[in-house]
Amino acid sequence: MKYKLAVIGSPIKHSLSPFIHEKAFSLLGIDCEYERTEVKEDELGDFINYVKSSGICGFNITMPLKRNIMDYLDEIDGEALLYGAVNTVKITNGKLKGYNTDAEGYKKSLEETGFEMKGKNIVFIGAGGAAVTVALKAAMEKAEKITILNRNISRAENAKEYIFDKTGADISAMELNSSNLARLLKNTDLLINATPLGMSGTSSDYENLSFMDSLKKDALVSDFIYNPPETKFLKHAKKLGLKTINGLGMLIYQGIISDSIYLEKELDYKKLKNYITSEYIKANMQ
Ligand code: NAP
Repeated sequence: MKYKLAVIGSPIKHSLSPFIHEKAFSLLGIDCEYERTEVKEDELGDFINYVKSSGICGFNITMPLKRNIMDYLDEIDGEALLYGAVNTVKITNGKLKGYNTDAEGYKKSLEETGFEMKGKNIVFIGAGGAAVTVALKAAMEKAEKITILNRNISRAENAKEYIFDKTGADISAMELNSSNLARLLKNTDLLINATPLGMSGTSSDYENLSFMDSLKKDALVSDFIYNPPETKFLKHAKKLGLKTINGLGMLIYQGIISDSIYLEKELDYKKLKNYITSEYIKANMQ
């Protein structure tokens, strides 16, 4: 059997999904065709009509459709409902079921460093879709304390209220500024950049990272960004002797978890992730 899969979103040209899924299926020895389809918000209905008769058995969803897709599904997994976002759809007998594998992907990538969210003090810079999804996961994993700092404080407040309402977690919201960060970071176990600051193709970046001086020596510093592999944020943390992790593991793991949904079986996540990572590094060295 040949698996026909796709990724949709806009822009989609630079999506790494075809690379990740094709490498995973090749290591698994399964025949797969994975297409990349540009779909804008107002084209989603047409795509859904097409996909039901296309032989496609599942598809991934990226920006800006992760929320909109929910209106077109027959069923939504509980975790995706909680996040209010779907990144994976499996089609069975013409019925579409949505899942979200982003936060589980992040959790798996953290676990590789030996870090568990349970009992930890976690600080997010940013309150967008990715921050809220991972903060909800941290709350479900029983993090001791979660703090969200954002440029737009009302977005951070809304995120805090939603997460508290759903999970009862100990969570605070604050305005993003260096003095708030410097004060908070003394007791932080995991600091996450969940903004596009420092991402390739954007012009904005952190101007001053001296707030990181307050971090404990055993704190972990994480960036959801994977391109460049080491942002200024991570470089600074490394210079301070802190452990760091970029967003590549999160990206690859969320894809492999999607594949386990398409194939309806557990996979050797670590083996697949190591293989895809080495292929990605090889491809980017050429
Ligand atoms: P989003 O929903 O658009 O949210 C962006 C967040 O960044 C908001 O909190 C926004 O603050 C903040 N921000 C943007 N520009 C800023 C600036 N110049 N200064 C300060 N804050 C700024 O985006 P998202 O989906 O959450 O994604 C966030 C980051 O995670 C992106 O870099 C994305 O590529 C990355 N990501 C990686 C993965 C992965 O698999 N590795 C998965 C998902 C996302 P305001 O509310 O104040 O505008």
